[in-house]
Amino acid sequence: MIIRRTLLGASFAAPALTACATAPAPIAQSLPLPHDPHSHARPAEARVTHVSLDLATDFERKALTGTATLTIEARADAREIVLDSDGLIVKSVRTNLGETSFEFGSRDENLGQALTIAIGPGVSTLVIAYETAPGAGALQWLEPAQTASGKRFLFSQGQAILTRTWVPTQDSPGIRQTYDARIVAPEGLKAVMSAEMLTPNGEAAVGGRAFRFRMSNPIPPYLIALAVGDLSFQAIGPRTGVYAEPSVIERAAYECADMERMLRAAEAMYGRYRWGRYDVLVLPPSFPYGGMENPRLTFLTPTFLAGDRSLVSLIAHELAHSWSGNLVTNALWADSWLNEGFTSYFEGRIVEALYGEENAAMQFALAWADIQKAIAAGPPDDTRLHLTGQRSADDGVSAIVYDKGALFLRTMERELSRTRFDAYLRSYFDRHAFQPMTTQWFMADFRDRAVRGDAALEARLQLDAWCYEPGLPSNAEEPRAAAFDRVAAQVTAFNAGGPASAIPWADWGTFERQRFLQILPRELSAARLAELEGALGLNATGNAEVLFDWLSLAIANRAEASMPAVEHFLTSLGRGKFVRPLYRALMGQGEWGQAHARRIYALARAGYHPIVQTAVDGIVTPA
Ligand SMILES: [Zn+2]
Repeated sequence: MIIRRTLLGASFAAPALTACATAPAPIAQSLPLPHDPHSHARPAEARVTHVSLDLATDFERKALTGTATLTIEARADAREIVLDSDGLIVKSVRTNLGETSFEFGSRDENLGQALTIAIGPGVSTLVIAYETAPGAGALQWLEPAQTASGKRFLFSQGQAILTRTWVPTQDSPGIRQTYDARIVAPEGLKAVMSAEMLTPNGEAAVGGRAFRFRMSNPIPPYLIALAVGDLSFQAIGPRTGVYAEPSVIERAAYECADMERMLRAAEAMYGRYRWGRYDVLVLPPSFPYGGMENPRLTFLTPTFLAGDRSLVSLIAHELAHSWSGNLVTNALWADSWLNEGFTSYFEGRIVEALYGEENAAMQFALAWADIQKAIAAGPPDDTRLHLTGQRSADDGVSAIVYDKGALFLRTMERELSRTRFDAYLRSYFDRHAFQPMTTQWFMADFRDRAVRGDAALEARLQLDAWCYEPGLPSNAEEPRAAAFDRVAAQVTAFNAGGPASAIPWADWGTFERQRFLQILPRELSAARLAELEGALGLNATGNAEVLFDWLSLAIANRAEASMPAVEHFLTSLGRGKFVRPLYRALMGQGEWGQAHARRIYALARAGYHPIVQTAVDGIVTPA
């Protein structure tokens, strides 16, 4: 989930940095929330504290229909409450005092519409009868042919600001809400949510079976999530398990075998896991992201099912979000590095704890290369951690938000010592649990608790340069991975004419293979490419990350022989991280690539999530 720039109009006073260390914080927090340019809500006047959904899934009409009952807190003089909505069809609104009026504002391309509801003294609940639009941006309604089970499937993706397309609420990450839900799914399908499952087998209901859920921790609304499909469950450990379609469940459980160990390693570093269970849901291939950290139930792309557990750092990443993101949350999308940078650092620490220092080092070295690429691509304004001038909430440069963010935390760790930095981070998660965070508040807290007026330390850290300046500060250190020196030697040998058969491919893991393909020269002769393919079986690799790097190289060389593999890849999955750059690469190869891009996109588009369709529509332009 990615960002670019923001408009942070007025500067806001740093609040007192206090929070409760053990119990969930009271939902009406004392912090004055900064203005969120990506929401219509005015929470200082009236805000939502709880959402109660009662929805039926209508697969014929591709709509969720029912009610959302909102619990609100309002100032005594408030006469209206403003919600976010995008495409919702609202039939009526009642308050606890009776029928009331509502009005939609004009539609903004990025933000949707304000839904303003009249309230008065004594109003504490709103019952909104509504349904979603067929093209709701958060929802993907899959046809049987798009799933492994051959049955229909629905899933939601709320981040960054798409929850407003299926739930009428205040859709700003600083406005935390608890929720409960009753979801009616067609007979034979199961509903799961980012919440405690109260009825694992469902209950008899008109039109199918009803499933009930409860999330009693206050969460940012982008984490309200739903999936409905033919789902099996397999336990991994006492607190962990996997949901997937029946034909995928065995492979999924195999790949997720280390989840319980990851959870224990994370808790040992940064404190108790506060969400009860940690389960994952492996979605059909059109899921637009690698993973989405929906609380209690991470949603995952099936592209991490490599068959050899080589891509499980994805699970470490989503699990880490249970602290950075879900517990302490960016109040504004301009500060999404507070979610993603912290999480990428934390992911590296879990990888190190389970799979050793060398693996973590290789992962950071790959990230360093991505940062360098992002900085070279510019523009400089897009390479700050705290983004300025942002228009869209989720259109940005992941290498900055994720990898530069993580590198900043590694720099803090290096300058403080790991022991001191871990103690700080653990207390940060405890003190700000269930609270929003901004760059400004984080910096004030870090100076107060970790720097403590040490002028020499302050100078070494270059905190302001990291957060507010483009590029990398002078204290950024390139991560070293000895294994990558050996990979570089192999590239040198190959470039000097050495045979592809001499490459120790079988001895390498995913990271070494990725590195090799990434640092090969971008221009190779057709004969050399064919030799690589023949020796390493690249077109047929089951590892999506390695295949992506190979196909990128093949496209750069207009390798016709790899086009069937490109077509298969792009028509069989919809993960934006892979799909967008490959289309961009094809479109950059003149008429040859553009013809392939248009032909493949015509086949693939219907299978992509609306988020990815919108992105690729902007890349693969008509001839
Ligand atoms: Zn993430």
